[in-house]
Amino acid sequence: MQHDAAALSAALADLEQRQLRRTRRIGLAPGLINFCSNDYLGLSTHPEVTRAFIDSASRHGVGSGASHLVTGHGPEHQALEDELAAFTGREKALVFSTGYMANMGVIGALADQNAAIVSDKLNHASLIDGCRLSGAEVKRYRHGDATHAGELMAALESEARLLVTDGVFSMDGDLAPLPELARLTRAANAWLVVDDAHGLGVVGATGRGCCEQFALSPHDVPVLIGTFGKAFGTFGAFVAGDADLIDLLVQKSRTYVYTTALPPAVAAATRAALRVSERESWRREKVLAHARRFSRGLAERGIGTAAPAADARVVTSIFPVVLGEAGRALEISRRLEDQGFLVMAIRPPTVPAGTARLRVTFSAAHEEAQVDALVSALAGALAA
Ligand SMILES: *Cc1c(COP(=O)(O)O)cnc(C)c1O
Repeated sequence: MQHDAAALSAALADLEQRQLRRTRRIGLAPGLINFCSNDYLGLSTHPEVTRAFIDSASRHGVGSGASHLVTGHGPEHQALEDELAAFTGREKALVFSTGYMANMGVIGALADQNAAIVSDKLNHASLIDGCRLSGAEVKRYRHGDATHAGELMAALESEARLLVTDGVFSMDGDLAPLPELARLTRAANAWLVVDDAHGLGVVGATGRGCCEQFALSPHDVPVLIGTFGKAFGTFGAFVAGDADLIDLLVQKSRTYVYTTALPPAVAAATRAALRVSERESWRREKVLAHARRFSRGLAERGIGTAAPAADARVVTSIFPVVLGEAGRALEISRRLEDQGFLVMAIRPPTVPAGTARLRVTFSAAHEEAQVDALVSALAGALAA
């Protein structure tokens, strides 16, 4: 791109013309029901979580004041890390300021120009960017295809190997074939890195995510990443693993070392969210029941989606309704909004060309009647 004003406006006009120009909305109009938030358990507004935030801010102030290795690491951060280690059944956990930074930092610390990474084609952008920035050789396998991953792994020359994948894929809501990937990485002596941003708090018998769903041990999944901005309703992220892994990240993760520590009040709120998510397990059951209800509702009305019916797969809080072209997805999204439902259209480059979609997400804050109303509105919008 040329560096002049005309080139910028041409680039914007080009995006506009292809219906790919993005805009931000400022908050939510009153009465609009939000079906695209990642606040799956409804914890972002939970009184216990907000109270923990306010109490901590009144005692410790707002900013952490420094990076973790200087003076930014306080008792709330440490307690949160200890609780996350216990929650995930791992020796240690390390809090990062965002999931994006956790992914960049973990991959950068474990892989360099001499390493090789095998990566799912539909991985989250932050994993993709982490791979790129590391300078390692990167091979991408077909989405969810462990056999293809194995073939790529076998062809690598480097001895330093990583396989990176989302646990629950953010745009499709499906799970990675983790048992196969774990077998493969153990046989190849490679690290398996799983980003379970959308699984933790929601998937697994007690909300411990994909590892629990598939009964995988820390040995199977040695590097587990989670975020707080999804099911836990706050902000930030963590990596969990054995003590040496975490200590290595403290030494070498540039996105850990060279950034300001999370505000302590966010750590305090996240501790409260973790407690509530465990105590109020009905939240997890409710969000998954909504996803099943929606899937059944679509099937009853003969509405096809690219996703397998909820009964035929592990249910998550994310349900994609693939519509094809970006314009079509935008149009259906607009019609739904006119009916009072906010469902974002997801377009390339976030998803592959020709698979623009509505990404419907459910929350424990929704009620059954709202899910039913969305099904009806969607049927109407598609028929119009
Ligand atoms: C949201 C998300 C991230 C980024 O986390 P932030 O804390 O929002 O930066 C990383 N990976 C996946 C799979 C995500 O969905």
